[in-house]
Order: sequence, then C-alpha cells, then structure tokens
Amino acid sequence: MSTSESSPRASRALETIAVLGAGTMGHGIAQVAAAAGFHVVMRDLDRESLRRGVQAIERNLAKGIARAKLTEGDRDQTLQRIRGTTHLEETADAELFIEAAPERLDIKREILREVEQTARRDFIFATNTSSLSITEIAREARRPESVVGMHFFNPVHIMRLLEIVVGRETSQQTVSTVTEVGRRLKKEPIIVRDVPGFASSRLGVALGLEAMRMLEQGVASARDIDTAMELGYNHPMGPLRLTDLVGLDVRLAIAEYLHRELQSETFRPPEILRRMVLEGKLGKKSGEGFYRWDEEAAGARVA
Ligand code: NAD
Repeated sequence: MSTSESSPRASRALETIAVLGAGTMGHGIAQVAAAAGFHVVMRDLDRESLRRGVQAIERNLAKGIARAKLTEGDRDQTLQRIRGTTHLEETADAELFIEAAPERLDIKREILREVEQTARRDFIFATNTSSLSITEIAREARRPESVVGMHFFNPVHIMRLLEIVVGRETSQQTVSTVTEVGRRLKKEPIIVRDVPGFASSRLGVALGLEAMRMLEQGVASARDIDTAMELGYNHPMGPLRLTDLVGLDVRLAIAEYLHRELQSETFRPPEILRRMVLEGKLGKKSGEGFYRWDEEAAGARVA
C-alpha cells in the first residue's frame, strides 16, 4: 500500500467524503461518491435545500432503475451511504471535503476556515468552483498544499468530465489522490493549471461567443449554426442552444470576467448577448433565449 510517507507523489486511499452544499452540484457529487462506495456526509446550511438535494438523488436513482441501469439493491446501497446534515461537526471525520456552495470567494474561504476548525484528520479540500482561483481560495489556508479544484459538470451523474485544477501551492500528492478519487467516481479527470476559465470554460465560452457574433453578422440562423457543430463536429449540442441552457446572464458574467482577466478580444461580449440579457431573454429559465422554450415541449423552437 502506498502511504504519504513512502512517496510525496503517491495518492492516499480514503473512505469518507464530505460534500458541502446540497444544491444542483452538491447532491450530484454526493450521489456519484456514494454509488462508488464512499461514505458520504452531505451538509447544507439550509434544511430545505438538504431535503431537496436528497429528493433529487432519489429521483435520479429511480430513473436509473426505470432505464435498467441500476438495480433496487444499487439504489438502496447508495442511499444508505449518504448521511444528510445541517451540522458541520458531523463531517469532522471526512478525509476529503468537496465544497459546492455558492460561487463567491468569501463564502468558499469561510467554509475552508470552518472546516479547519472542525476536521479531526488531515484533509484535502476540493472546491467545485467553475471560475474562482484555487490559489486565492487557499490564500489563508493552514495547508494550501491540500487545496485543489474538482470541477464537475452538470448533471454530475451523467457528465464524465472532471477538471482537476492545480493551484500554485497544491501538492502532487493532493493531485494524485483526487485524480484517483475521480476515476473511482467513473469520471475522466483532466489536469489543468489554475488560470481564469480553466480549460473547459475558456474553450466553451470562446465557441459560444463566436457563434453569437456569427448570428449577429447574419452568417446563418441559430439553428443552422448549432447544426454545423452538432453534425459537422459531433458536438451533442450546438453552442447557442447550450448557452440557452446555461443562461445568457451567466455566460455574459463569465465572458466579462475572462475578457478582463485574459485581456483577449476573443472574450469581449458581443452586443447581441448584452442586448438579450437587458431584454430579459436569459435562455431556458426565462422561456426565451436564442430559442423559445416551451415548458410542455421537450425541445426548443427557434426564436
Ligand atoms: P446551488 O445554489 O444550487 O447550491 C448551493 C448550495 O450551497 C445551496 O443549497 C446553499 O444552501 C448551500 N450553502 C450555502 N452556504 C453553505 C455552507 N456554508 N455550507 C454548506 N452549504 C452551503 O449552486 P450550484 O449550482 O450547485 O453551484 C455550486 C458550485 O458549483 C458553485 O461554485 C458553482 O460555480 C459550481 N458549478 C456549478 C455548475 C452548474 O451547472 N450549476 C457547474 C459546475 C460548477
């Protein structure tokens, strides 16, 4: 067995994962971790969010059974391994914390500080941030070498990519351990340096913004631009439809951030994006974006 003493690069075997936040991402991470055999403590500040998180896991598992991907035994075992709580002290024995709280630097730093006060073991602190700097989150940490990004994608139980983001102080042992955990969760880990937009957002947003500029210039319709990527490049979904799902306001905020941080014109938000956000056309959640979203219909109609 490899231990931290035997080699600084070796990964550490661990059994208990605490997931902090039971929202869209947190409940999905808790589900895949429990399905992979880890003991999971899922903590949220808010009792109602915790209840919704557990219900969402139950719904996902029920769908898995309906599609014959899971047995009832799989479901029961997964659920048995998850403990929900609003008390941070109940996470004290975890060896890996995966934080999936709101996307704010002050919140993430505060959570790390609280975990440092309650944890009973040496732990790895992984953040699921989609844009914040890992180095910044770790700035006042007692052990910044144990802070790392584990960027999962939504919905977590379906999306296979796991972006492991390496902060300035993150140790090789921390990277090896979370890479191994990621594989156990049946994800495909990629290792990325802590730069704005990591790898996935930078490429994905660049493609989305270029598609908007093409629409603005009348190169083709939204549907045809999306079809070009879906059929020509085998993307499961075109960049404009994907923007509708993510939310145009969310995309605009990320584009502004990348434009500022990377100082690249690639990320200057196109006029059409600013205008649509001002008009309240935010994509699926508002009923209209580059497509019109009819709640009853499974798909979208071209706006
Ligand atoms: P969400 O709003 O659905 O859930 C956040 C949860 O955190 C809420 O239930 C809230 O009550 C809880 N919370 C707040 N403070 C807490 C604390 N101190 N301890 C424990 N729980 C706390 O948010 P989300 O969409 O799941 O996003 C979580 C993180 O994941 C963010 O950093 C986000 O950028 C990132 N992310 C989101 C997506 C996505 O598609 N939604 C994808 C990748 C990464």
